[in-house]
Amino acid sequence: ARGSVEVEGVVHMRRSRRLKIREECRVFHMSDTQIKEVMSRLHNELVRGLGKNTHSKASVKCWLTYIQDLPNGKERGKFLALDLGGTNFRVLIINLGDNHFDMQSKIYAVPNHIMTGTGVALFDHIAECLANFMKEHEVYDERLALGFTFSFPLKQTGLTKGILQRWTKGFSCSGVVNEDVVQALKDAISRRGDIQIDVCGILNDTTGTLMSCAWKNHNCKIGLIAGTGSNACYVEKTENCELFEENNGKLQMLINTEWGAFGDDGSLDFIRTEFDREVDTHSINRGKQIFEKMIAGMYLGEIVRLALEKLTRMDLLFDGRGSDLLFKRNSFYTKYVSEIESDLPGEFTSCRDVLEELGLAHATEADMAAVRYVCECVSRRAAHLVSAGIATLLNKMNDPVVTVGIDGSVYRFHPHFHTLMCEKIEYLVRPGITFDLMLSEDGSGRGAALVAAVACHQSQQQGA
Ligand code: BGC
Ligand code: MG
Repeated sequence: ARGSVEVEGVVHMRRSRRLKIREECRVFHMSDTQIKEVMSRLHNELVRGLGKNTHSKASVKCWLTYIQDLPNGKERGKFLALDLGGTNFRVLIINLGDNHFDMQSKIYAVPNHIMTGTGVALFDHIAECLANFMKEHEVYDERLALGFTFSFPLKQTGLTKGILQRWTKGFSCSGVVNEDVVQALKDAISRRGDIQIDVCGILNDTTGTLMSCAWKNHNCKIGLIAGTGSNACYVEKTENCELFEENNGKLQMLINTEWGAFGDDGSLDFIRTEFDREVDTHSINRGKQIFEKMIAGMYLGEIVRLALEKLTRMDLLFDGRGSDLLFKRNSFYTKYVSEIESDLPGEFTSCRDVLEELGLAHATEADMAAVRYVCECVSRRAAHLVSAGIATLLNKMNDPVVTVGIDGSVYRFHPHFHTLMCEKIEYLVRPGITFDLMLSEDGSGRGAALVAAVACHQSQQQGA
C-alpha cells in the first residue's frame, strides 16, 4: 500500500509540473482578439508609412522600391547577382532563356569580423568574391549586368540608389548607415579595377522572392521572408504611394514594408513577454526590430532557451539541473526548434540528440515532452504573427486571388509553419479573398537577375 501511495505521489508531482509548465507558457498564446488587434495596429502603421505627412514618424516605413513592372516570363540574357543579408552571402550567374533558366551560385562566408567591421572592408570582400566568381565561371573579361539583393532597410530614390537606414540581423559595419550602398559597391569594384559591372538594380530579398515567383505565377503579389530576419513586400497602387512623386502613368509599385520594425514604438508591448524583452536587451540593436525579434530565426531559439532556463530554475525541468550550454546565450539554435518539432508524436529522437548536445542527457521523457511543448508555443506564436501580417496585407490589397511567394529558413525547415499559416490566414482574411502560399525556389538570387533584366532592358536589346 505504501508503494502505491508513492507512485501516486510521483504521478501527482508530474502532473502538477506539467500544469505549471503550461501555465508559464501561456504568455506565448495570443487569443484571436489579440491577433486582430495586432492586425489593426499593423494596418494603421502601413498607412502611416505610405503617407507623406506621417512617414517620418511611422515605425513601418513602407519604402518605395521603384519596381513597377513584374516579370512576364520573356526576360532573356545573362546576369550576375549578389545576395547579402541572410545567413549566407552568395554570388550567382543566371541565364534566362525560353521558359527555363539556369543558374550557378557559390556561397561565401561573411566572417564575424567582417559583419561587424568597417563598411569598406565589407564591400571590398564582396567585390573580391565577385571577381573570383567571375574568374571561375569564365566571365572575368565580360561586362555584365548585375542585380544586388541587399536585405536591409533602404530608403530608395531610384532603382539603383539606396540609402541604408539601419543594420539588422547581427550586421553592424561602420560608415554605411545613411550612405548609398550601390555607390559603396561600385567604389569597391573600381578600387579593384579589374572587372566591369553594370549595377542595374538594388532590391530587398522580399522583392526578389516576389519577382521570382511572379515570373511563373502572375497572381504573386506578396513576397515574404521568414528566415534569419522577417519582412514582407506587396504590390500597392501608385495612388497610395504618397512619397512617389513622378507621374509615369504606371499604376503599381512594389512596397518594401520593413515590417520587422513594427512594434519599435511600443505598439506590441501588450503581447511581448519577459523573454522577448530579454532577447532585445542583449541584442546589438536594442529597441529595434521588435516584430522581427518575435518571428525570425535569429531569435526563436534564444526565446525557447530563455523559457527553458526559467523552467529549470523553477525546478520544473531536468530535475532542476541545467547545463552550462543551457544557461549560455544563443546556444539553442532555431534549427533545433524545427528538428525537435519534426519528431513523430510520442518519439523524441531529435529532441534527445539536441538535449545531449546541450549537456542535458539526464532529461526524462517528461522533460522532453515539455521541451517540445515550449518549442511549439514559441513557433506557433511566430507563425500566427506572420499570418496576422499577411492577412493584413491581403485585406488591404483586397484582390480576389493572391499568391504569396515565401522564402527563409523558418518557413522552409519548420515542419508545421506552412500549415499553421494557412489555417490562421484563412481565418483572418476577409471572405471572398483566396490565397495560396508558395515556396519560392531560390527567390532572392533569381529575383535579382529578373530585376536587372527588366531594368536594363537587356532582354529587348538581345531579342532584337
Ligand atoms: C531586414 C529586411 C529583410 C528581412 C529578411 C530584416 O532584418 O530589415 O530588409 O527583408 O530581414 O531578410
Ligand atoms: Mg536569403
